[in-house]
Amino acid sequence: MTEKFDYIIVGAGTAGCLLANRLSADPTKNVLLLEAGGKDNYHWIHIPVGYLYCIDNPRTDWRFRTEKEQGLNGRSLLYPRGKTLGGCSSINGMIYMRGQARDYDNWAKLTGDDDWLWPTCLDDFKAHEDNYRLDGSGETADKKHRGGGEWRVEKQRLSWEVLDSFALAAEQSGIQRTDDFNTGDNTGSGYFEVNQRSGWRWNTSKAFIRSIKNRPNLTVWTHAHVEKLTLEKDSDGQLACKGVTVLVEGVKKTVESNIETILSAGAINSPHILQLSGIGDPLDLKANGIEVQHNLSGVGKNLQDHLQLRTIFRVENVKTLNEKASTLLGKASIGLEYLLKRSGPMSMAPSQMGVFTKSSPEQEHSNIEFHVQPLSLEAFGDPLHPWPGMTVSVCNLNPTSRGTVKLKSSDPHQGPAIAPNYLTTAEDKQVAADSIRVARNIMAQQAMMQYKPTEIKPGQEHSTDEQLAKVAGDVGTTIFHPAGTTRMGHADDVESVVDSHLRVHGIRALRVVDAGIMPTITSGNTNSPTLMIAEKAARWIAGSI
Ligand SMILES: Cc1cc2nc3c(=O)[nH]c(=O)nc-3n(C[C@H](O)[C@H](O)[C@H](O)COP(=O)(O)OP(=O)(O)OC[C@H]3O[C@@H](n4cnc5c(N)ncnc54)[C@H](O)[C@@H]3O)c2cc1C
Repeated sequence: MTEKFDYIIVGAGTAGCLLANRLSADPTKNVLLLEAGGKDNYHWIHIPVGYLYCIDNPRTDWRFRTEKEQGLNGRSLLYPRGKTLGGCSSINGMIYMRGQARDYDNWAKLTGDDDWLWPTCLDDFKAHEDNYRLDGSGETADKKHRGGGEWRVEKQRLSWEVLDSFALAAEQSGIQRTDDFNTGDNTGSGYFEVNQRSGWRWNTSKAFIRSIKNRPNLTVWTHAHVEKLTLEKDSDGQLACKGVTVLVEGVKKTVESNIETILSAGAINSPHILQLSGIGDPLDLKANGIEVQHNLSGVGKNLQDHLQLRTIFRVENVKTLNEKASTLLGKASIGLEYLLKRSGPMSMAPSQMGVFTKSSPEQEHSNIEFHVQPLSLEAFGDPLHPWPGMTVSVCNLNPTSRGTVKLKSSDPHQGPAIAPNYLTTAEDKQVAADSIRVARNIMAQQAMMQYKPTEIKPGQEHSTDEQLAKVAGDVGTTIFHPAGTTRMGHADDVESVVDSHLRVHGIRALRVVDAGIMPTITSGNTNSPTLMIAEKAARWIAGSI
């Protein structure tokens, strides 16, 4: 017998968990939340440093790879995406970052919908916020933060001498400090704030699902891989989504939705599911033997991501994690500190110190973000260097390069071809060259001189624009923020996939609610902006708007 629910949500990640919470708040509506991964009961999900063991682990990660990238000098990258309750919020870097007010004002301009203006978005950020500044409840005097919501924001429980000196060096280079990156203008330097509670990761499954798991109208299926959408024409000839086909623990099921199906499978998998269902660019669909149900050529296009350029410096006269974690005694003291105080390196988000600034004076706004770490390694998964080192990673927040997510076959269990096309525009190459220079300039300030920094990567021998743009391809890797592949826009914007209320153009009862709907990537980390998007969407869906 076919099971029926009012709402079917595909993907229990960042957006999906919030949506399930909000939509099941109405006891008259039945909600089904489908997650391809398992429960978030792996201990490394919850210990902050455990992201090291969750990435590229089949228990928690889809384990995608990009195609070989020309801009990265032919390299293909690991492309982690969370596959468990909480989705990427279960394996991510926990940085709480809203982006910049102008990001959202621009979305309002692109869609013609004032609901996306910053003041309204700010209300939606606050709707679920539980900020340490307001333990208990209420809001800050500047009305930028709130307490009492589900989404916990805390200060990090550590500091490092070499990072404090880096902030001072940034100040000496003209970049002021900020004690709050989340006011709408994130310019400045400081320790990132994180989604943690008392030294444990705070993912969206804990925040939005655990506390309501006994609601009788909410059903959560894990190990439930949605293969495609069920599409039918209504009596008026309009194409509508009626539900999904899903493989649950190896058993194929068809589930129907009475009201709506919502795709929250993330910026890689939502366009992939649309394509598998016959919604996309007809040429690509036909080339993979899929019958075209609806021509929507923008599906899987407009992929944007932040490429981090990892500059590495060897330092002296200061302790970094490289030496601390290299001895048994060091490891034991790190473990003990976490056990007793939930602090120290095990409570560490992958990046601790942030700086937002301009890559060159001609830029109108802060357009680069630094993630600075008191550690260094060749590449993710490699051992730490045997000498004291630090990583000064920098990314272009507003890249102009655009990539694609495309079918590789009609098999729903074969991942798509992911081609971010990093560093393919002249503008992105220039920002890459300039931002390496900004990193060097900060490291050359007086506050860093006591550590006698030596640039290991990319190496001082690269100095012209051309050399730096080229070597950026060697030291560049994803900072894990794919967005834009089901972007919102006007119906007459042929490459947009959803309207400003996130309804798929031309298909009734189907929305996409995840990071894929961003028309332009936000100027910062993308998790909390995705929650803000879901908060808005939940209101619209519940109000049938
Ligand atoms: C390693 C890493 C570090 C990051 N660090 C940060 C950070 O520090 N701060 C920050 O703000 N952002 C960070 N991000 C980015 C941020 O986490 C994402 O932008 C955000 O989680 C995206 O949310 P989403 O709802 O769009 O997708 P996801 O959270 O990926 O959720 C999608 C869910 O859908 C499920 N799913 C997919 N396909 C199917 C299917 N066919 N059937 C059923 N279920 C399916 C997935 O398993 C997943 O649970 C990081 C991401 C990663 C991977």
